Amino acid sequence: MDTDSLLSLDKQLLWHPYSSFNNPPPVYPVASAQGVYIELTDGRKLIDGMSSWWCMLHGYNHPVLNQAIKDQVDKVSHVMFGGLTHAPAVKLAQKLVALSPPGLNKVFLSDSGSVSVEVALKMALQFWRSQGKPEKTRMVALRCGYHGDTFGAMSVCDPVTGMHHLFADAMPTHLFAPAPTCAFDAPCTDEDIAPLKAILSEHHTTLAALILEPVVQGAGGMRFYSPQYLKAARALCDEYGILLIADEIATGFGRTGKMFACEHAGISPDILCVGKGLTGGYMTLAATLCNNKVAQGICDGEAGVFMHGPTFMGNPLACAAANASLDILCNQNWQAKVLQIEAGLTAGLAPCKQLPGVANVRVLGTIGVVEMQAPVDMALIQRRFVDQGVWIRPFGKLVYVMPPLIISDKELSLLTGAMCKVLSMGS
Ligand SMILES: *Cc1c(COP(=O)(O)O)cnc(C)c1O
Repeated sequence: MDTDSLLSLDKQLLWHPYSSFNNPPPVYPVASAQGVYIELTDGRKLIDGMSSWWCMLHGYNHPVLNQAIKDQVDKVSHVMFGGLTHAPAVKLAQKLVALSPPGLNKVFLSDSGSVSVEVALKMALQFWRSQGKPEKTRMVALRCGYHGDTFGAMSVCDPVTGMHHLFADAMPTHLFAPAPTCAFDAPCTDEDIAPLKAILSEHHTTLAALILEPVVQGAGGMRFYSPQYLKAARALCDEYGILLIADEIATGFGRTGKMFACEHAGISPDILCVGKGLTGGYMTLAATLCNNKVAQGICDGEAGVFMHGPTFMGNPLACAAANASLDILCNQNWQAKVLQIEAGLTAGLAPCKQLPGVANVRVLGTIGVVEMQAPVDMALIQRRFVDQGVWIRPFGKLVYVMPPLIISDKELSLLTGAMCKVLSMGS
C-alpha cells in the first residue's frame, strides 16, 4: 500500500486516541522502528522521546525480545487461563513478586493498564464486603491523577481533565483530595496532608481505598511530589482502615530511579497496578498485585472467589516478552543508566528555562518535563518536532519526554536540543 492510500484510508476508517473524524488529527505513517528510532515511510528517522507512551524500555526491534517471542510462538501463543497454566505466567509472577515492594505476593494478569485498575478497584470492593463492611464502596483519589479510560478507572481520574461531566450520570462518584503540592525534594508538612486527612476522617466508614500514582502523577499533569506525602498517605490509610492502591503503570520499572516509585517512600501498597513498560512495549499486558490480607479477605468472602477473568489473561506471548524485558532490565546496571539519563535531561533542558512562555522545567529519573504557561498547538509543534528528527507528543501545557533506557548521550542531547529549539520558535 502506498503512503497516500494508507493515510487516506486511515482518515476514513480509524479512530486514533481522543480523535475526531470531523477534524482528523495529522498522523505520521511508520514503516519500521529500530533502537530509539521510529522510521517513517518517507525514510525519516525520529528519536522516540515518548518510548511510545512509557512502554519501550529497551527500544525497538530488540534482538532478545524478538527471540523470546519467536521461541514462545513455536511452543504456544495463547491458551485459556481458566483451568490451565504455563511456565511464562508462573515465571512472570515470581519476578513481579520479587521486584515489587514487600508484602505484594499474589498476581492477577490482565490485558491493559485500565483493566488492571478495574481489577484493583474490584479487589478493594470484594475485600470490604468479605470483612462485613459492604458499605465501604467509595474510592478517594487525587486531583490531577490519571488511571485509565474504562469506566471504573475513569471515575478515579481527575474530574476536570477526565471529562467526568460527559459521563456523569453513568459513572460512580468518588471523592477527590487536592493534588499534592509538596515538591519531590521538599518535606510534606501537616498542612500538605491535611486535606486528605480531612476526607479520610470524615468518610472512612464508606471508603474502600485510596488510589494514587506514587510520586509522579503522569498523564493528569506530569507532577512530581514528595515521597513524604506518600508515606503520610500510607499511614492515614492504616489509621482510618482503608486500602491503598498504588498505580505504578507509568512509574514502574525504573522510570523514577527506583524499580517502583513506592520505594522512594519505603512503603508497600495493599494493591499495586503495573502495565506500560512491563513487556518492554512488545505486547499488551498488565498486572495487579495484592498482599495476603487482601487475597485472603476476598477468598474468604461471600463469593469465595475473585470475580474477574479476562479471555486473554496470562497470554503466553505477552508473559514471555515480559520475562525477557525484566531480565534485560535487571541484568544491567539500570540505576546507573537512569541517573545518566536524568543528568542528560537536566543539563539538556536547562536552557529551556529561559525561554519565553516556559513556566517550569523539571526532571526525575528518565522523565523530563517542560511546562508552558499556555497550552501548545499540538499539531504545529508535533510537525516541528518531526522536522527536527524527534518524536514528542505534548498535551495541553506539557511538553515532556521519557526516552528508552538505551538512548545514548548523543541522542539524548539531540532530543533535548530539539525541545529547546522548537519551544523557542513560539507559535
Ligand atoms: C496509561 C496509564 C493507565 C492506563 O493504561 P492503559 O494501558 O492505557 O489502559 C493507568 N494508569 C496510569 C498511571 C497510566 O499511566
